[in-house]
Amino acid sequence: MLQSASPRREGGPHESEDGTYASEELLLRETVRRFMTNDVRPAEEGLPHDAYKLPKEQLDRLQKKARELGLWNVQSPEEHGGAGLSLVGQVIVAEEAAKCRMGAYIPACGAFGFDPPSVIFRGSQAQIEKYARPAIERGEKAFFAISEPSGGSDPARAIRTTARREGDEYVLNGTKFWITAANESTWGIVFARVGAEKSREGITCFIVDMNRPGVSHTVIPVIRSYAPFELHFENYRIPVENRIGEEGQGFQLVNDLLVHGRVPYAAGTIGVAQAALELAIDWAKQRQTFGALLADRQAIQWMLADSEIELRAARLLVLDAARRADAGQDIKMESSVAKVFATETAGRVVDRCIQILGGMGVAQEMPLERWYREMRIKRIGEGPSEVQRLVVARNLLGSRTR
Ligand SMILES: Cc1cc2nc3c(=O)[nH]c(=O)nc-3n(C[C@H](O)[C@H](O)[C@H](O)COP(=O)(O)OP(=O)(O)OC[C@H]3O[C@@H](n4cnc5c(N)ncnc54)[C@H](O)[C@@H]3O)c2cc1C
Repeated sequence: MLQSASPRREGGPHESEDGTYASEELLLRETVRRFMTNDVRPAEEGLPHDAYKLPKEQLDRLQKKARELGLWNVQSPEEHGGAGLSLVGQVIVAEEAAKCRMGAYIPACGAFGFDPPSVIFRGSQAQIEKYARPAIERGEKAFFAISEPSGGSDPARAIRTTARREGDEYVLNGTKFWITAANESTWGIVFARVGAEKSREGITCFIVDMNRPGVSHTVIPVIRSYAPFELHFENYRIPVENRIGEEGQGFQLVNDLLVHGRVPYAAGTIGVAQAALELAIDWAKQRQTFGALLADRQAIQWMLADSEIELRAARLLVLDAARRADAGQDIKMESSVAKVFATETAGRVVDRCIQILGGMGVAQEMPLERWYREMRIKRIGEGPSEVQRLVVARNLLGSRTR
């Protein structure tokens, strides 16, 4: 059902029921919504405010149900154990799965598993069998390490980590920075420079096993509780068979994947903001000040209305990017437009909702202050807003921008 989510908009079996989604897309949305309401959100009750993991037995129970629903590793291909959803399917799931306290960083509290970095599927059959399949099957995480202390916005120039060929191995030396889940992963993807010292030339993609000597990690405490890590490689030896693609092909392999990945990333922020808006609406309908409900004040109504308008626009931009990608179009520009607009909108909406709740907005009793902190990162991760605007400007101006 899911892979066939059709980009067609005119009539027939996929006719849109609400002007935005086809009927089978609405069914997918409804399935995830029901699962979030009946299973995921209740499982979070009683956990600490900043928790980013469910107790194991709870997670096992939810993951079993998600597998039965066909929602297991929704971004990974079906032939390798994932659900293989279209990009439209992925954004529908991403939006709904972010409507929990753990929000967009741990969608559905991990119930849908943890898709491995998609570049692994550009690897050989042997690499997929050895690394991707078991991770998907067991629900394990794998990290993706491109950023370094020298920068993440422009990794082609910033990467300093080197991989020196020695016989049937490469010797890896350097530091990766901000790496999410580096502590929980048994393997991950690392980009390093082989030979060439400048720009993209020489940047090569490797699979790194965390159980070999020469790798260590240190936590980087940040604004969210789910902290990323610094990864150190000192004479870490990688067998040649763990190289993905050829030497120097790293960026070529990963570029379109990064572009596509921004679309569900953006959708997750819409889900969080929509959940915040629903909380603020409920609050405004029962909270009185100066003898009247907040809901009756125009100042509050406008905050709610602006949030609804901006979220609808963000959702349409995200869907547009996803539909174009599913139709085989290049979405470099569309994914940047969607990423900037959705992440900036989500930050604004959560901020307004905090204002409507007053003190309760920043209390840890409610999820809003956690979402506020997490949405702040979304304008930086996966390429900061400025870099996305640069991509848009390049498309508009061609070679006039550097
Ligand atoms: C919590 C968290 C988790 C992360 N997880 C991962 C991960 O798992 N794997 C991974 O590889 N990376 C990860 N990152 C790194 C993230 O992708 C980078 O932080 C991001 O790409 C920006 O890189 P930087 O922080 O080095 O900022 P820099 O590249 O130093 O840029 C700093 C700022 O300068 C501005 N800027 C940059 N270029 C331009 C320009 N051309 N014009 C105008 N302004 C510009 C932007 O505002 C930018 O925020 C994570 C980051 C965080 C905070």
